[in-house]
Amino acid sequence: MRIEQELKLGFKDVLFRPKRSTLKSRSQVDLSREFTFKHSGEKWSGVPVIAANMDSVGSFEMAKALSEHQVLTAVHKHYSVAQWQTFVAGASEKELSNVMVSSGTSDADFEKTQQILAMSQHLMFICIDIANGYSEHLVEFVGKVRTAFPNKVIIAGNVVTGDMVEELILAGADIVKVGIGPGSVCTTRVKTGVGYPQLSAIIECADAAHGLGGRIIGDGGCSCAGDVAKAFGGGADFVMLGGMLAGHEESGGEVIEKDGKQFMKFYGMSSQSAMDKHSGGVAKYRAAEGKTVLLPYRGSVHDTISDILGGVRSTCTYVGAAKLKELTKRTTFIRVQEQENNVFG
Ligand code: 5GP
Repeated sequence: MRIEQELKLGFKDVLFRPKRSTLKSRSQVDLSREFTFKHSGEKWSGVPVIAANMDSVGSFEMAKALSEHQVLTAVHKHYSVAQWQTFVAGASEKELSNVMVSSGTSDADFEKTQQILAMSQHLMFICIDIANGYSEHLVEFVGKVRTAFPNKVIIAGNVVTGDMVEELILAGADIVKVGIGPGSVCTTRVKTGVGYPQLSAIIECADAAHGLGGRIIGDGGCSCAGDVAKAFGGGADFVMLGGMLAGHEESGGEVIEKDGKQFMKFYGMSSQSAMDKHSGGVAKYRAAEGKTVLLPYRGSVHDTISDILGGVRSTCTYVGAAKLKELTKRTTFIRVQEQENNVFG
């Protein structure tokens, strides 16, 4: 047994140190980025925020809505090929280029992904994620997908350490998804005792990925716009959001009335709810590692995403970053023991 003594940090452990700036207004801040990806050579430009590939977040409706903000959606893997056909037929080129096709790592997943990608050349992202990205099987699968799709942008995860980021990039991933345990409806840390504070994971994994010309997605754990900014400040090229985009008209969940108020169900993809829905229950050998919550229904996602992006723009003005790309360079985090004033709840 070994203990690493260095303290690892989460979003709640830091704040940005303000810096002198010549920016007059947040309207001067440009949140879009352009990437050319390592293996595929594909280019993408837009605002590098991604709706998570969860049942009640990464829906087709969400993809349409967020694309208006140049934001990406990782569409969850539970749509049928026929549902994809209908979506692709009605979607614009821009909408399709802001969509990620999610895939598990089975042969059936591979075949389904092939069928979906064949529908349009504008579908350029494949998101291959499993809860434990340390599995050798994931590395092999990424290699297989890279061979089959040399020109598509491959995302693989989830991992939290530099060694595994490097391995996935060398196996063919353009982007590595980072995060084990920070999610709003995730119970991995309590069920298994495994995890890594998300800000440190981002900082360390970004360093490893950038050294090889790869990119990372900070996935999970953002509970407010400030956290999204901290993820970018720590070096995340993209930030993926589940809970912050759940509970909306476009999230694809069912609206439930309770005591005259409206709610929407939101659950982890390894929760009992998800496994009951998609796999006929929790298999005997495993435990659910996700929770189910009822969120107050929040209406359309447009206001929420504008609010999140407005927050990140404002962060940029406080530290003098005219472009999102400059945020990491302009970031000095200070360690803190308090975040907000809770006098009024
Ligand atoms: P959030 O933005 O809600 O904090 O985190 C979203 C992320 O949580 C997802 O992108 C995914 O990586 C992770 N996640 C989703 N469902 C589950 C689950 O059931 N269990 C665990 N451990 N993580 C989950």
